[in-house]
Amino acid sequence: MTRNRYREVTQSNWYGTVQVLFAFITLVTVSSFFLLPGYWYLWLMIIFGGLALLVAWHAKNLAYLCPRCGEVFKVSRFEDFISPNGVNKKYLRCPRCGRQAWADILRIKE
Ligand SMILES: [Zn+2]
Repeated sequence: MTRNRYREVTQSNWYGTVQVLFAFITLVTVSSFFLLPGYWYLWLMIIFGGLALLVAWHAKNLAYLCPRCGEVFKVSRFEDFISPNGVNKKYLRCPRCGRQAWADILRIKE
């Protein structure tokens, strides 16, 4: 992947991620009042649907910067889901140099 494609990338805004997570937790909490215990399966569907959306949103809008070689790359949803997260960092294997490192998280402007 060339760097030009990510010219519009900016340093990730950690606060934006927190807001989305907070909205999700609020949705789960509020819906539990209305749906539990009678409609627990509906509630579970909301949780799993919300989680799938979160992962999709995360993978779609973010790219990663390898601290070793400077490569900017994206990861699959699965990889995004299983790899550990830090504040503005994510532990990933770089597709260019093949090393595992804490890559900087970049946000792609829409
Ligand atoms: Zn690299």
